[in-house]
Amino acid sequence: MATTWLVMLIVEAARYLLIAGAAFGFFWVWQRERFARRFIHRGAARAARIAHDLRWSASTVLVFWAVGIVTKRLADAGIVRAYPHVAERGWLYFAFTILALIVLQDTYFYWTHRAMHHPRLYGLVHRTHHASVQTSPWTAYAFSPLEALTHAVFVPLVWLVIPMHEAAVFVFLIFMLLRNVQGHLSIELFSSGFTRGKLLGWSTTTTHHALHHRHYRTNYGLYFTWWDRLMGTSDARYHDEFERVVGA
Ligand SMILES: [Zn+2]
Ligand SMILES: [Zn+2]
Repeated sequence: MATTWLVMLIVEAARYLLIAGAAFGFFWVWQRERFARRFIHRGAARAARIAHDLRWSASTVLVFWAVGIVTKRLADAGIVRAYPHVAERGWLYFAFTILALIVLQDTYFYWTHRAMHHPRLYGLVHRTHHASVQTSPWTAYAFSPLEALTHAVFVPLVWLVIPMHEAAVFVFLIFMLLRNVQGHLSIELFSSGFTRGKLLGWSTTTTHHALHHRHYRTNYGLYFTWWDRLMGTSDARYHDEFERVVGA
Protein backbone atom coordinates (compact mmCIF):
# COMPACT_ATOMS: atom_id res chain seq x y z
CA MET A 1 0.00 0.00 0.00
CA ALA A 2 2.69 2.49 1.07
CA THR A 3 4.74 1.60 -2.02
CA THR A 4 1.75 2.23 -4.32
CA TRP A 5 1.16 5.59 -2.65
CA LEU A 6 4.82 6.52 -3.03
CA VAL A 7 4.82 5.53 -6.72
CA MET A 8 1.67 7.61 -7.25
CA LEU A 9 3.32 10.63 -5.64
CA ILE A 10 6.44 10.23 -7.78
CA VAL A 11 4.35 9.93 -10.98
CA GLU A 12 2.28 12.98 -10.02
CA ALA A 13 5.34 15.13 -9.30
CA ALA A 14 7.34 13.81 -12.27
CA ARG A 15 4.54 14.59 -14.72
CA TYR A 16 4.60 18.24 -13.72
CA LEU A 17 8.36 18.60 -13.31
CA LEU A 18 9.19 16.88 -16.61
CA ILE A 19 6.63 18.65 -18.81
CA ALA A 20 6.83 22.15 -17.27
CA GLY A 21 10.60 21.74 -16.83
CA ALA A 22 11.11 20.68 -20.46
CA ALA A 23 9.09 23.66 -21.72
CA PHE A 24 10.94 26.05 -19.42
CA GLY A 25 14.34 24.65 -20.33
CA PHE A 26 13.66 24.66 -24.07
CA PHE A 27 11.68 27.87 -24.63
CA TRP A 28 12.78 30.05 -21.75
CA VAL A 29 16.46 29.08 -21.44
CA TRP A 30 18.00 27.17 -24.36
CA GLN A 31 16.07 28.76 -27.25
CA ARG A 32 15.26 32.04 -25.50
CA GLU A 33 16.95 34.20 -28.16
CA ARG A 34 15.04 32.50 -30.94
CA PHE A 35 11.66 33.12 -29.29
CA ALA A 36 12.51 36.56 -27.83
CA ARG A 37 10.22 38.35 -30.26
CA ARG A 38 7.32 36.03 -29.48
CA PHE A 39 7.19 36.89 -25.76
CA ILE A 40 3.73 38.25 -25.02
CA HIS A 41 4.90 40.41 -22.11
CA ARG A 42 8.21 42.17 -22.36
CA GLY A 43 10.78 41.71 -19.63
CA ALA A 44 11.72 38.51 -17.88
CA ALA A 45 9.58 36.96 -15.17
CA ARG A 46 11.23 37.65 -11.85
CA ALA A 47 12.74 34.78 -9.91
CA ALA A 48 10.40 35.56 -7.02
CA ARG A 49 7.39 34.91 -9.29
CA ILE A 50 8.76 31.59 -10.42
CA ALA A 51 9.49 30.62 -6.81
CA HIS A 52 5.89 31.51 -5.90
CA ASP A 53 4.53 29.36 -8.73
CA LEU A 54 6.78 26.43 -7.82
CA ARG A 55 5.72 26.56 -4.18
CA TRP A 56 2.01 26.47 -5.00
CA SER A 57 2.57 23.83 -7.67
CA ALA A 58 4.14 21.59 -5.04
CA SER A 59 0.99 22.02 -2.97
CA THR A 60 -1.13 21.19 -6.05
CA VAL A 61 0.85 17.98 -6.63
CA LEU A 62 -0.07 16.92 -3.08
CA VAL A 63 -3.77 17.69 -3.63
CA PHE A 64 -3.82 15.81 -6.97
CA TRP A 65 -2.00 12.92 -5.29
CA ALA A 66 -4.54 12.75 -2.44
CA VAL A 67 -7.47 12.79 -4.87
CA GLY A 68 -5.69 10.11 -6.91
CA ILE A 69 -5.47 7.87 -3.84
CA VAL A 70 -9.18 8.33 -3.05
CA THR A 71 -10.04 7.65 -6.71
CA LYS A 72 -8.00 4.44 -6.65
CA ARG A 73 -9.80 3.26 -3.50
CA LEU A 74 -13.15 4.02 -5.15
CA ALA A 75 -12.07 2.09 -8.23
CA ASP A 76 -11.02 -0.89 -6.09
CA ALA A 77 -14.47 -0.76 -4.47
CA GLY A 78 -16.12 -0.75 -7.92
CA ILE A 79 -17.63 2.73 -7.43
CA VAL A 80 -15.36 4.48 -9.91
CA ARG A 81 -15.97 2.67 -13.20
CA ALA A 82 -12.46 1.67 -14.26
CA TYR A 83 -12.31 -1.37 -16.51
CA PRO A 84 -9.16 -3.50 -16.66
CA HIS A 85 -8.78 -4.55 -20.32
CA VAL A 86 -8.98 -2.21 -23.34
CA ALA A 87 -10.32 -5.14 -25.41
CA GLU A 88 -13.47 -5.18 -23.25
CA ARG A 89 -14.75 -2.07 -25.04
CA GLY A 90 -12.30 -1.63 -27.90
CA TRP A 91 -9.97 1.14 -29.05
CA LEU A 92 -12.71 3.28 -30.57
CA TYR A 93 -14.41 3.53 -27.19
CA PHE A 94 -10.99 4.18 -25.61
CA ALA A 95 -10.45 7.15 -27.99
CA PHE A 96 -14.01 8.36 -27.39
CA THR A 97 -13.45 8.56 -23.61
CA ILE A 98 -10.36 10.76 -24.15
CA LEU A 99 -12.30 13.13 -26.42
CA ALA A 100 -15.24 13.15 -24.00
CA LEU A 101 -12.91 14.08 -21.12
CA ILE A 102 -11.47 16.98 -23.16
CA VAL A 103 -14.86 18.42 -24.16
CA LEU A 104 -16.39 17.89 -20.71
CA GLN A 105 -13.42 19.41 -18.90
CA ASP A 106 -13.51 22.44 -21.15
CA THR A 107 -17.11 23.06 -20.06
CA TYR A 108 -16.44 22.21 -16.42
CA PHE A 109 -13.42 24.53 -16.41
CA TYR A 110 -15.23 27.46 -18.03
CA TRP A 111 -18.04 27.48 -15.48
CA THR A 112 -15.98 26.72 -12.37
CA HIS A 113 -13.47 29.36 -13.55
CA ARG A 114 -16.21 31.95 -13.90
CA ALA A 115 -17.49 31.05 -10.44
CA MET A 116 -13.97 31.50 -9.03
CA HIS A 117 -13.99 35.07 -10.33
CA HIS A 118 -17.03 35.87 -8.21
CA PRO A 119 -15.88 38.41 -5.59
CA ARG A 120 -16.90 36.05 -2.78
CA LEU A 121 -14.70 33.23 -4.09
CA TYR A 122 -11.86 35.03 -5.84
CA GLY A 123 -9.65 35.84 -2.83
CA LEU A 124 -10.10 32.45 -1.22
CA VAL A 125 -9.82 30.24 -4.30
CA HIS A 126 -8.34 31.89 -7.37
CA ARG A 127 -6.07 34.82 -6.40
CA THR A 128 -3.05 32.54 -6.01
CA HIS A 129 -3.22 31.59 -9.67
CA HIS A 130 -3.49 35.20 -10.79
CA ALA A 131 -0.42 36.33 -8.84
CA SER A 132 1.59 36.12 -12.07
CA VAL A 133 0.67 38.39 -14.98
CA GLN A 134 3.67 37.21 -16.92
CA THR A 135 3.16 33.50 -16.46
CA SER A 136 5.75 30.80 -17.14
CA PRO A 137 5.43 27.03 -17.70
CA TRP A 138 5.72 26.67 -13.91
CA THR A 139 2.41 28.57 -13.48
CA ALA A 140 0.57 25.56 -14.91
CA TYR A 141 -0.01 24.10 -11.41
CA ALA A 142 0.11 27.32 -9.36
CA PHE A 143 -3.23 26.95 -7.60
CA SER A 144 -4.49 27.42 -4.06
CA PRO A 145 -5.45 24.06 -2.48
CA LEU A 146 -9.17 24.82 -2.99
CA GLU A 147 -8.67 25.57 -6.67
CA ALA A 148 -6.46 22.47 -7.08
CA LEU A 149 -9.22 20.40 -5.48
CA THR A 150 -11.82 21.85 -7.85
CA HIS A 151 -9.71 20.78 -10.84
CA ALA A 152 -8.77 17.42 -9.30
CA VAL A 153 -12.30 16.15 -8.66
CA PHE A 154 -13.25 16.49 -12.34
CA VAL A 155 -11.88 13.11 -13.46
CA PRO A 156 -13.35 11.02 -10.60
CA LEU A 157 -16.73 12.73 -11.08
CA VAL A 158 -16.80 11.74 -14.76
CA TRP A 159 -15.48 8.29 -13.87
CA LEU A 160 -18.50 7.67 -11.62
CA VAL A 161 -20.68 7.87 -14.73
CA ILE A 162 -18.56 6.92 -17.75
CA PRO A 163 -16.50 3.70 -17.69
CA MET A 164 -12.91 4.57 -18.58
CA HIS A 165 -9.63 2.70 -18.87
CA GLU A 166 -6.83 3.94 -16.64
CA ALA A 167 -4.53 4.47 -19.66
CA ALA A 168 -7.14 6.71 -21.35
CA VAL A 169 -7.24 8.87 -18.23
CA PHE A 170 -3.44 8.96 -18.22
CA VAL A 171 -3.33 10.13 -21.86
CA PHE A 172 -5.93 12.80 -21.04
CA LEU A 173 -3.90 14.02 -18.04
CA ILE A 174 -0.79 14.38 -20.23
CA PHE A 175 -2.84 16.33 -22.81
CA MET A 176 -4.24 18.54 -20.03
CA LEU A 177 -0.79 19.36 -18.70
CA LEU A 178 0.67 20.01 -22.18
CA ARG A 179 -2.13 22.45 -23.02
CA ASN A 180 -1.91 24.01 -19.58
CA VAL A 181 1.85 24.57 -19.96
CA GLN A 182 1.24 25.99 -23.44
CA GLY A 183 -1.40 28.37 -22.04
CA HIS A 184 1.09 29.75 -19.53
CA LEU A 185 4.17 29.71 -21.77
CA SER A 186 3.99 33.49 -22.43
CA ILE A 187 5.44 32.77 -25.89
CA GLU A 188 3.00 32.55 -28.78
CA LEU A 189 3.80 29.53 -30.97
CA PHE A 190 1.05 29.75 -33.58
CA SER A 191 1.29 31.86 -36.71
CA SER A 192 -0.60 34.81 -38.10
CA GLY A 193 -4.27 34.22 -38.92
CA PHE A 194 -4.66 31.31 -36.47
CA THR A 195 -7.24 32.97 -34.24
CA ARG A 196 -9.41 33.89 -37.22
CA GLY A 197 -9.21 30.42 -38.78
CA LYS A 198 -12.62 28.84 -39.37
CA LEU A 199 -11.53 25.63 -37.68
CA LEU A 200 -8.32 26.52 -35.81
CA GLY A 201 -9.93 29.63 -34.31
CA TRP A 202 -11.95 27.37 -32.01
CA SER A 203 -8.75 26.40 -30.23
CA THR A 204 -7.38 28.67 -27.52
CA THR A 205 -3.82 30.01 -27.81
CA THR A 206 -1.18 31.21 -25.37
CA THR A 207 -2.23 34.81 -26.13
CA HIS A 208 -5.82 33.90 -25.27
CA HIS A 209 -4.90 32.90 -21.71
CA ALA A 210 -2.29 35.67 -21.37
CA LEU A 211 -5.10 38.20 -21.90
CA HIS A 212 -7.06 36.51 -19.13
CA HIS A 213 -4.11 36.92 -16.75
CA ARG A 214 -3.80 40.56 -17.75
CA HIS A 215 -7.46 41.63 -17.78
CA TYR A 216 -9.25 39.10 -15.49
CA ARG A 217 -12.73 39.59 -16.90
CA THR A 218 -12.39 37.98 -20.34
CA ASN A 219 -11.18 34.74 -21.96
CA TYR A 220 -12.13 32.23 -19.27
CA GLY A 221 -11.93 29.24 -21.63
CA LEU A 222 -9.48 26.36 -21.41
CA TYR A 223 -9.08 24.42 -24.70
CA PHE A 224 -11.74 25.98 -26.89
CA THR A 225 -13.07 29.45 -27.52
CA TRP A 226 -16.74 28.44 -27.92
CA TRP A 227 -17.92 29.10 -24.36
CA ASP A 228 -16.35 32.58 -24.37
CA ARG A 229 -17.92 33.33 -27.74
CA LEU A 230 -21.31 31.97 -26.68
CA MET A 231 -21.35 33.81 -23.35
CA GLY A 232 -19.91 37.08 -24.68
CA THR A 233 -16.72 36.89 -22.61
CA SER A 234 -14.24 36.87 -25.52
CA ASP A 235 -11.67 39.64 -25.19
CA ALA A 236 -12.29 42.24 -27.91
CA ARG A 237 -8.51 42.81 -28.14
CA TYR A 238 -7.74 39.13 -28.77
CA HIS A 239 -7.16 39.03 -32.54
CA ASP A 240 -5.19 42.30 -32.61
CA GLU A 241 -3.06 41.30 -29.65
CA PHE A 242 -2.35 37.92 -31.23
CA GLU A 243 -1.26 39.53 -34.52
CA ARG A 244 0.93 42.03 -32.63
CA VAL A 245 2.66 39.21 -30.77
CA VAL A 246 3.33 37.14 -33.88
CA GLY A 247 4.68 40.24 -35.59
CA ALA A 248 2.23 40.42 -38.45
ZN1 LIG B 1 -3.71 30.75 -15.89
ZN1 LIG C 1 -8.95 33.43 -13.75
